[in-house]
Amino acid sequence: MSPLRIAIVGFGKIARDQHVPAITATEGAVLAAVASRNASLSGVPHVTTLEALLRDGPPVDAVALCTPPQVRRAQAALALAAGKHVLLEKPPGATVAEIGPLSTAAAAARRTLFATWHSRFAPAVEPARQLLAGRRITAVRITWKEDVRVWHPGQDWIWQPGGLGVFDPGINALSILTRILPQPLFVTSADLCFPANRDAPIAAMLSLSDAVGLPISAEFDFRQTGPQSWDIHVDTDAGPVVLSSGGAKLSVGGEQHVDAIKAEYVALYRRFVELTAAGESDVDLAPLQLVADAFLLGRRRTVEPFEEEA
Ligand code: NAP
Repeated sequence: MSPLRIAIVGFGKIARDQHVPAITATEGAVLAAVASRNASLSGVPHVTTLEALLRDGPPVDAVALCTPPQVRRAQAALALAAGKHVLLEKPPGATVAEIGPLSTAAAAARRTLFATWHSRFAPAVEPARQLLAGRRITAVRITWKEDVRVWHPGQDWIWQPGGLGVFDPGINALSILTRILPQPLFVTSADLCFPANRDAPIAAMLSLSDAVGLPISAEFDFRQTGPQSWDIHVDTDAGPVVLSSGGAKLSVGGEQHVDAIKAEYVALYRRFVELTAAGESDVDLAPLQLVADAFLLGRRRTVEPFEEEA
């Protein structure tokens, strides 16, 4: 079978750090073009926009949309209308409801729509899911704290409406949580801290639960300096289970069960190739729904302005 010819659209941090090496490493996939207004990649055909790619770029079968969430829906609609498979970076969009018409369009065009959650491909997530399926869970605590100046330098879109602020990384924790716990979850309260000069939260404290009252707390904070935290602690009837380092490590009852190098995007592209070959889509909106509900329910507090230069 000929390889899936993929164009990356939006050539920023994640496109360079993860998508290029992952596509290169994926059997059955080839990087056929880069669409970027500002950047190019040596040896790969370049166009400036998705429109130019579809009009007179090199032939491609699929696009990987690595742009900010605020512009992704329109790009996905355009690509699906042109008969391309579409991979959406996370979060799949700026709102929950805008994804439905994309799923409909993908089905009508018999193309794949893949709403990716890269953290679900971290090496300890599936072992954690399997382990927890056999246990009674009594409480969950999420601590997801990182330094925005280190991880998102100059990304103005993250502070604009639809950019999600601290939920941009926080939704990764929620994507893992909704994968490793078998039952549907919902938000019961939220405190959102908005810098006085920004339109998206810099920190958030959430409480979540399920139909039988499982207590879940989540702390997301962009103001972390020093050690960073991407941890999920799960108390169970047979002792604690801890997913740490964003899902790279799993400790069970204090014993390390998984400690692996994260290769999320290689697994993610393997899945994309499989989905396109099978003619299927994969769209799970549960993490985005929880974030939307946190905004619906959240108590808003104004905190000190955020300036890019500390
Ligand atoms: P970024 O470095 O700001 O790159 C985004 C790229 O999108 C820009 O380089 C730009 O590409 C394009 N773009 C920006 N505004 C645009 C607009 N208004 N219209 C069209 N294109 C626009 O951001 P990023 O960190 O790569 O994040 C992109 C997405 O990936 C986000 O949804 C984020 O949540 C997700 N993600 C990021 C990370 C991470 O560690 N950074 C990890 C996983 C997932 P051109 O200048 O090339 O046109």
